[in-house]
Amino acid sequence: MPVSEDRQKFVYDFTEGNKDLKDLLGGKGANLAEMTNLGLPVPPGFTITTEACKVYLAGGQEPPALRDEVTAHLDALEARMGKKLGQADDPLLVSVRSGAKFSMPGMMDTVLNIGLSDDSVAGLATQAGDERFAWDSYRRLIQMFGKTVLGVDGELFEEALEEAKRAKGVATDVELDAADLRTLVGEFKDIVAKETGRDFPQDPREQMDLAIRAVFDSWNGERAKLYRRQERIPGDLGTAVNICSMVFGNLGPDSGTGVAFTRDPASGHQGVYGDYLQNAQGEDVVAGIRNTMQLAELEQLDKASYDQLMQIMETLETHYRDLCDIEFTIERGKLWMLQTRVGKRTAGAAFRIATQLVDQGLITEAEALSRVTGNQLAQLMFPRFDEKAKTDLLGRGIAASPGAAVGKAVFDSYTAVKWSRSGEKVILIRRETNPDDLNGMIAAEGILTSRGGKTSHAAVVARGMGKTCVCGAEELEVDTKRRRLTAPGGVVIEEGDVVSIDGSSGKVYRGEVPVVPSPVVEYFEGRMHAGADDADGLVQAVHRMMAYADRMRRLRVRANADNAEDASRARRFGAQGIGLCRTEHMFLGERREMVERLILAHTDDERQQALDTLMPLQKADFVELFEAMDGLPVTVRLLDPPLHEFLPDITDLSVRVALAEARHEPHENDLRLLQAVHKLHEQNPMLGLRGVRLGLVIPGLFAMQVRAIAEAAAERRNAKGDPRAEIMIPLVGTVQELEIVREEAERVIAEVEAATGTDLRLTLGTMIELPRAALTAAQIAEAAEFFSFGTNDLTQTVWGFSRDDVEASFFTAYLEKGIFGVSPFETIDRDGVGSLVRAAAEAGRATRPDLKLGVCGEHGGDPDSVHFFHEVGLDYVSCSPFRIPVARLEAGRAAALGKGSSDTR
Ligand code: ADP
Ligand code: MG
Ligand code: MG
Repeated sequence: MPVSEDRQKFVYDFTEGNKDLKDLLGGKGANLAEMTNLGLPVPPGFTITTEACKVYLAGGQEPPALRDEVTAHLDALEARMGKKLGQADDPLLVSVRSGAKFSMPGMMDTVLNIGLSDDSVAGLATQAGDERFAWDSYRRLIQMFGKTVLGVDGELFEEALEEAKRAKGVATDVELDAADLRTLVGEFKDIVAKETGRDFPQDPREQMDLAIRAVFDSWNGERAKLYRRQERIPGDLGTAVNICSMVFGNLGPDSGTGVAFTRDPASGHQGVYGDYLQNAQGEDVVAGIRNTMQLAELEQLDKASYDQLMQIMETLETHYRDLCDIEFTIERGKLWMLQTRVGKRTAGAAFRIATQLVDQGLITEAEALSRVTGNQLAQLMFPRFDEKAKTDLLGRGIAASPGAAVGKAVFDSYTAVKWSRSGEKVILIRRETNPDDLNGMIAAEGILTSRGGKTSHAAVVARGMGKTCVCGAEELEVDTKRRRLTAPGGVVIEEGDVVSIDGSSGKVYRGEVPVVPSPVVEYFEGRMHAGADDADGLVQAVHRMMAYADRMRRLRVRANADNAEDASRARRFGAQGIGLCRTEHMFLGERREMVERLILAHTDDERQQALDTLMPLQKADFVELFEAMDGLPVTVRLLDPPLHEFLPDITDLSVRVALAEARHEPHENDLRLLQAVHKLHEQNPMLGLRGVRLGLVIPGLFAMQVRAIAEAAAERRNAKGDPRAEIMIPLVGTVQELEIVREEAERVIAEVEAATGTDLRLTLGTMIELPRAALTAAQIAEAAEFFSFGTNDLTQTVWGFSRDDVEASFFTAYLEKGIFGVSPFETIDRDGVGSLVRAAAEAGRATRPDLKLGVCGEHGGDPDSVHFFHEVGLDYVSCSPFRIPVARLEAGRAAALGKGSSDTR
């Protein structure tokens, strides 16, 4: 064996680690080490690495070297503390605590007081001068160990404890005396023996080893696995184990245990936030066994500890440069720190805290951007329930898709559709949804399910539709047969009763909770000013963060907008142009029949007539749009969708014709229409006659659209405006298509310029939304002044599935099986679709260095995707007007985080 190869180190003393070793030591261990090295009072101990856990999980056995290493560290700890683990006359006691890289519910609960036994309990009593305390600690050990390590039903211990209190006629555990607790220990030991067929282990080291193994095993507990899947935490990280010498908060009234935040995690305000419980140990403070006191009250109780705690909190904030949450214990007037970490916070607090820390000089503007996310901003933009309203909470589930929705409870899709058709707002309530529920989901204001997590069908589809959804509300019993929902406590919601669901918090209320618009949206709309004296603190924080992002970002942000109204809103929200104006929307409604006439035209004359009626309408639309976006680029896409979308429904029409024939009064026009509809009917319209193909087979169609754009631009120019139209050709697969359209367009533009005496400087480019276009981008760039990646269609054509068909049918299964981490329609598939985008961008720029590059698929507003587009060097992203602030923020974050970073969580 080569001597140079260092043996892997599996155990680190708290003095050896630091906060950056979370992968190896877990979050808890890394931060305990960090605090130790800061000189804060942390009870000594050591951490077994995640690597040891991985070895154990892979082979079902601890690495052979682990035992000796643990022994060495335990020896050192014993030497330092001057007593041995479980020593009869003066026992060293430890806690065994799990701690993975990410804090994860479902991992093993901490076991305190390891080392106590029938022998050492008396020693502990003598040392502490408190017999009651010793027996209380021992009964806690058997209870925690029995439940979490040996798997005994915890209820059995709870019942025995309750019985002891009842027998004595007292209400709380502190009123039980040493003798009572000693009896209880006997009962607890009997429970363990009866339930497990073995005695509670008396050997301290065996207690410790069993607890360590139980921590390893808990990595693969059902709850832990479920949580990891939902939060997309990799399954192979493993957990670390922390062995920490015990300090005691249950040594009488001058002892206690508490939790605190360095600032308010809900608002970000600085101050004293926390709870403290006298004469208590471990989780007592959060378990609600007795009433806690507010942290501020500790000042009266124990000023020295309180002052020290305040000072430590400041040290931690300055050191971590962020909000921290902490756990501490006071043992007979001496303060001990047991845990800290950068604390979770609400979206609003994240923005406030980031700006506060900038003001305190603790972080830079760029760092501030790394402390918030676009998803948090999106959360702040949803309408919300009025916080001041009185509410009647029914229960809560998983916040699956944000928003605040109110409606009448319905328990099946059919009723959802029926009621919504008659103008009712409904909330669809199901145990879980499946593809058959799709219509009901579309009709509903929001969706509530009692089963399933963040990747359940309901959650995935609702997020895709931007619909409010609360899923997995298991405490609500849904009975679809009897059309009712029963909440804990027996409250029943019948079909038709009004409920309100909050997709941002997962809360479900009875009755209508009033909804108010988000102040952040009011601000973006310009109805609330960040500079105003009474401006909301949140709005001020958002305003400042947006300014940082705008200063930092390289990507420009445009909007997808088809009309002047959307365009104006987009501009208010900060859009720097329109990246996609879809002209098909201009042909719907009452204009649909004009298109129908164009399609049915028999002669050139008829066709020209149809085009002549459409042309002025198109032109008027563009004039308005160019005016709204004066001075900014507007990319107009020529007609894209399959023609049948403009024709009547084939079934309706067939019925109409058949009825007319039965009455012997056939309608000539309908017959012709039916023939045309049949002729144009496609098996697979997405891959049929659409986009540039349409422009090439219907003579004059694209020319008419180009003329409308050119004349509108000329009109604006002559009115001293600054129109900047860009003409975009959809669905191009080869440069020849583009060249033909280009030639015709240039001719039309030249005509308009000559006739109006203007120089329009219109540019012409194409969408890249077919794999062939991406693969031949070098050639296509010869005829295109810009590329806009249509990533929705590109995703469909690269994967070979159509979004409308697959999202409801098999996406849930794919997400559950982990084939997708996230839907490729939500976040760009970097490896597949993304690599085509990257290659096409490079090839295009090689042909034409000043080629302008953008993206107009919905990915343009998705945080992760924005980071990708930043990395591949696009010039802009374009997204729906409402997503613009999110895209601006993420573009700033992408620039701030630097190349290669994709951490948008
Ligand atoms: P969690 O990950 O659930 O927060 P912890 O390991 O932090 O679990 O422990 C649970 C409780 O026990 C906490 O209140 C913690 O402060 C307390 N605790 C853990 N180790 C010790 C110890 N060595 N001495 C005293 N209290 C401890
Ligand atoms: Mg803790
Ligand atoms: Mg397309």
